Amino acid sequence: MRWKWMYLWLPSLMACALFAQQPTPYPQTVALKAAHLLDVRAGRVLDEQTVLVVGERIEKVGPSAEVPIPSGARVIDLGSATLLPGLIDAHVHLTDDPQDSGFRSLGISVPRQALIGAKNARLTLEAGFTTVRNVGASGYSDLALRDAVNAGDVPGPRILASGPALGITGGHCDENLLAPEFQYRADGVADGLPSVIAKVRENIKYGADLIKFCASGGVFSKGDLPGTEQYSPAEMAAIIAEAHRLGRKVAAHAHGTQAIIDATEAGVDSIEHGSLIDDKGIRAMKEHGTYLVGDIYNDDFIMGEGKQVGFTEDNLAKERMVGQRQRDGFRKAAEAGVKIAFGTDAGVYPHGWNARQFAVMVKYGLTPLAAIQAATLSAADLLGWSDRVGSIEPGKFADLVAVSGDPTRDVTLLEHVKFVMKGGQVVKEQ
Ligand SMILES: [Zn+2]
Repeated sequence: MRWKWMYLWLPSLMACALFAQQPTPYPQTVALKAAHLLDVRAGRVLDEQTVLVVGERIEKVGPSAEVPIPSGARVIDLGSATLLPGLIDAHVHLTDDPQDSGFRSLGISVPRQALIGAKNARLTLEAGFTTVRNVGASGYSDLALRDAVNAGDVPGPRILASGPALGITGGHCDENLLAPEFQYRADGVADGLPSVIAKVRENIKYGADLIKFCASGGVFSKGDLPGTEQYSPAEMAAIIAEAHRLGRKVAAHAHGTQAIIDATEAGVDSIEHGSLIDDKGIRAMKEHGTYLVGDIYNDDFIMGEGKQVGFTEDNLAKERMVGQRQRDGFRKAAEAGVKIAFGTDAGVYPHGWNARQFAVMVKYGLTPLAAIQAATLSAADLLGWSDRVGSIEPGKFADLVAVSGDPTRDVTLLEHVKFVMKGGQVVKEQ
């Protein structure tokens, strides 16, 4: 009886084995042709280029006359467009929407935040941002979102995620809207050296790619001021040393002058916001090679639409204190040669509008090319991903965007990308 059963199944087993040996349609070969290509490393626009993509990576780049197209390759001719690397935003909150700030945020569950993140991941990718660094989310919703994107369950950019941002009790990264009897504290709250070290380890245990902590007060929080330092220099040093020991980079939310200096001297990898930076902070950041991630677009949105969106009067007053000073400080830092990585704080303003910051960066001291380099080569360096994203070079992921016209002349073209590819897959084609 047993043998008879085997005979019944053997042909189908063999068919399965044969099927498994059939060549799969991958790696798929795609030839992207365009009249122009921005070489972000050389800082030049090249004419009549072809990018050969095999599977998820770039195989070859060069003048179309010198890159033969293999038979069977799909050819995508982008005509007169300019190709450039997929853009990188080093400061987003995919699981947050602006209208859900303040008291309304208290009614939004962690699972709901993850689903909000799924919506925003798609919007961000379609806007040409093929990689983001998510710096702060509740309940590890950002790590779930990253894993869902990586599994192909939802469309989105490549995501490096921090998990909950570390912060002091009652600080910017705590939640101060509830009365004491609710006994609520945010996931990332940790005070004192043993606790901050344990919190770094806990975030890494659950999959954090980097560590984010709040060195100073902030705008969208109750009962604190952006200029005030929150973690002590000793706590900052402990967070950074432990994260680095475990192979993770560290981002410090720091508006305040002293917080910028102390986090930089403790060896942080990037200063987020940097609003009240002074000459001493600029010198320290230059000396340590620390990146400035200045989110200098969102003041337009916060001041223009913040009231309708529902930001509290207290938060709007704080933005009035730091908004223009941040832009002026950004210009000074950029002119002094502080390393700049593109980061916008998307979530404070609607996701998908990320590229609106390019024009503001140009207004405040960068050339269009330097602004694009901040969102490609430099952001990739900050993320520790220079080996895989940030330029159109063989071996890198085939993450590319195309715009009509020359973005090194008109950086606002990046607000309307006409073509997006991530990992060799076409995401958007107009
Ligand atoms: Zn932020």
